[in-house]
Parts: sequence; structure tokens; C-alpha cells
Amino acid sequence: MKKAFERQYSLDVPKLRMGHNEERYIVNSEFLTHFETSYIEDCEVDAVVQVEKYHSHLDTKFHLKGWAQVECDRCLELIKIPIESNHRVIYSFSEKMEETDDMEVIYISENQPHISLVQDLYDFIGIAIPFRNVHEDIGEQCDPKIMQYITGESDLV
Ligand SMILES: [Zn+2]
Repeated sequence: MKKAFERQYSLDVPKLRMGHNEERYIVNSEFLTHFETSYIEDCEVDAVVQVEKYHSHLDTKFHLKGWAQVECDRCLELIKIPIESNHRVIYSFSEKMEETDDMEVIYISENQPHISLVQDLYDFIGIAIPFRNVHEDIGEQCDPKIMQYITGESDLV
């Protein structure tokens, strides 16, 4: 993965001030091109990250909102899924943080000035996509030609 790209989607720890910070990242089709293979075909997600900086750790709250495009499980045409989710991650410089159900703890070295959020952002979008995605579920219709082929019916319903 290219350094400049990774840098663009990272927390610059020394630059963050103690206390509250707000960062914003746009996760879109350009972002996805940096992954060799992706289950997410396309997306446009606005990620707002609230960062509380302490001496021992960063307490980060992610709010993701937008859409992702994946294959429909029935007709295999692309389908746009609306996405909105929240995640909390503690990036800890020490080894003494306790994890809870609604927050993840990631240990990082204090000598590591940039915390890449690339994989986290990708995973958060992946988690926000339902397990099963069908056009009907979001009030759209599956591709009639493909449905005709799948069901073997000659008339379109
Ligand atoms: Zn469909």
C-alpha cells in the first residue's frame, strides 16, 4: 500500500492536541482502488472521527455515514446499501487497557507517529453492510432479465 495514501488516512499523533480533536475522512472509490480485492464494489462514506488525546492513549469515536455498493445476492447486479454506524477504538501506548463489548483496544508504539486507519475504515464499512443484500429489501427491483434467466420463466412478472 502506498505511503502517501496510508498517510492520508491516518492519525498524526504528534499533531493532535491534548484533549479533543475532530478528523474527517472520505472513503470512496479511489480509496477502494488501493485494495487488491474488495468485496465492496464502490462506496462514498463520510467518516467523522472524534479523538480524545491523553498521555497514555487516544480514545476515538468513529461515525460513518454514506453508502456502499455490493452485488445483489439474487440477481448479482450492483446494489447501493445505505450505511450508518458508530465504532469506538482505544489506541493505547501502554499495555493496561481493559476491553469492553462496545470498544476495541489496539496497542501502538509511542514511537509510531502515524496510526493508519485504512484497515479500520474498510472493516467498519464491511461490518455495516448486512449479511444478505437483495434489491427488494431496499425497495428496488432485481434486474428483470437476470431474474427471468434464474427462474426460467418466459414472462416477466
Ligand atoms: Zn437484485
